[in-house]
Amino acid sequence: MKVKTEPTQVLIAGAGPVGMTLALDLARRGVRSIIVERNPTTTAHPKMDITNSRSMELFRAAGIAGALRKVAVPEDHCFDVSWITSFTGHELYRFAYPSVDAHRAWIRTHNDGSQPAESPMRVSQVVIEPALRAAIEAEPLVDVRFGVECADLSQDSAGVTVVLRDRKTNAESSVRCSYLAGCDGGSSMVRESLGIGLEGDMRIMQRYMVHFRSPRRDLLMRWGRAWHYQSALGTLIAQNDADVWTLHARLPSGADPKAADPAELVARFVGQTIELEVLVANPWVPHLVVADAYQKGRVFLVGDAAHQYIPTGGYGMNTGVCEAFDLGWKLAATLGGFGGPALLASYEIERRPVALRNREASRRHSEVRAQIGALYGPALSDAGPDADAARKSAASRIAQLGNLENESWGIELGYAYRASPIVAREPDARWIDDPATYHPTSAPGARLPSVFLRDGTSLYDRLGRWFTVLVTGRGNGAALLRAAGALGVPAVEVRLEEPQLASLYEADILLVRPDQHVAWRGKTPETDADALGIVRLALGW
Ligand SMILES: Cc1cc2nc3c(=O)[nH]c(=O)nc-3n(C[C@H](O)[C@H](O)[C@H](O)COP(=O)(O)OP(=O)(O)OC[C@H]3O[C@@H](n4cnc5c(N)ncnc54)[C@H](O)[C@@H]3O)c2cc1C
Repeated sequence: MKVKTEPTQVLIAGAGPVGMTLALDLARRGVRSIIVERNPTTTAHPKMDITNSRSMELFRAAGIAGALRKVAVPEDHCFDVSWITSFTGHELYRFAYPSVDAHRAWIRTHNDGSQPAESPMRVSQVVIEPALRAAIEAEPLVDVRFGVECADLSQDSAGVTVVLRDRKTNAESSVRCSYLAGCDGGSSMVRESLGIGLEGDMRIMQRYMVHFRSPRRDLLMRWGRAWHYQSALGTLIAQNDADVWTLHARLPSGADPKAADPAELVARFVGQTIELEVLVANPWVPHLVVADAYQKGRVFLVGDAAHQYIPTGGYGMNTGVCEAFDLGWKLAATLGGFGGPALLASYEIERRPVALRNREASRRHSEVRAQIGALYGPALSDAGPDADAARKSAASRIAQLGNLENESWGIELGYAYRASPIVAREPDARWIDDPATYHPTSAPGARLPSVFLRDGTSLYDRLGRWFTVLVTGRGNGAALLRAAGALGVPAVEVRLEEPQLASLYEADILLVRPDQHVAWRGKTPETDADALGIVRLALGW
């Protein structure tokens, strides 16, 4: 049977958080897309529970941060992480982290470029996905199709033909798109169709997830609110600080994951049986892998299709969100005719090294957790002075090992695209590759340091949707604006009139990309030809 072929600019396979973010960014840039999701609804699996500051900065730029925060954990609740023996035993050590409200106040009083423009957000994947879905369904340029899978694909030099299958009726249809984004998760059919392998370690550990509702706040919040309560038996995530929790349990050694009893695993972690309603429960295994390639012809891998991590650090979706915003403007610029031939190829060159860096951070964090887990033994739960001393000693060791998994600002904010072909070469630029600490720099390739202006607005809110010519006191942006105009790319000029802030940017003029990364910095270009060269490079010409 001959099936009708519909045309679209971009087809997105998979409406997880990353696919939906890409659809949103493309729509905001005027690109039409079809997004297909094989499941009839958004996910029931809580999976991610932290949207980090960098993702929030990007969601803010897309105009959706406020809508997402409305469904998240209230902004005056803390992000504490606490190590306990059990809820019937002892709290050993608590890493205290401020609420969104308190963090915002901190950001405003440390306005030196070292802080993000946005605070992180506690929200489960079950909750964020419907909010993202509502956002893309409100976009006339996004055609959202749930219950439809991407069944097959083939590409040629002019486009990609994708076979779609309605999961209810099995009816097949076909779409012809200029580009296909494989946002179809860890078992990506798109990645497999392209024959792209995964580099790294599979099946790192065995875990069992129990997502449940319980009225037992008296016990599960016994030492007050905490985002995570952790022990050698697993991690309990407070999903709404009210009545929904998720336990990621280690199984007793030799236990068959398929035979595990969710309520029993919760009781083992808590220290006693509790009243609960299991919402979802299943065994799962994390991997530490990155795809060998991010692109083949007109097809791209984004999000978990391109990398999978242990959740320590919360880098999975957050890495994918940055990828969606990196790829989005490049696809839009190419489709708009002002992106050059090197633009799309820069997606893999920029993002794959970040994925590898984040994978290793996630590995290191999980090793720290294992070291803390090894401190546990019956002595920690006993009564008496010896047990008190053992707990004190464990607490000081936990404090010493630290909790970098929730404090690695260098991973979250300090990644840079220094080897990118669309970023100006500045070999002597100061850039410190420090996963733990974010060292602000405006070196080409880095994320533009964020500051708040005298009137309280964020510099980020002044940036244009496309390119921004950021002029500090002495520069003149006219030539770069003329160059952008000549190449057909929208650009705005932003003048930073506050000298104490301007000095942070280490240059008279910066060319800032649509994803808030610095493409070039320097003195006012001497000629229009110089300015044209700068913008051409940033657009991949
Ligand atoms: C326990 C746990 C905790 C985590 N915590 C965090 C955290 O705090 N922060 C964080 O950033 N990340 C976290 N992650 C990782 C995060 O959940 C993933 O990185 C994230 O879901 C990736 O989003 P995605 O859209 O790329 O893929 P997915 O969420 O997997 O979405 C892919 C979608 O594609 C659909 N699909 C698959 N095949 C097809 C097809 N052929 N056609 C159409 N649709 C298809 C799937 O049904 C799915 O909806 C955690 C993961 C786990 C397991």
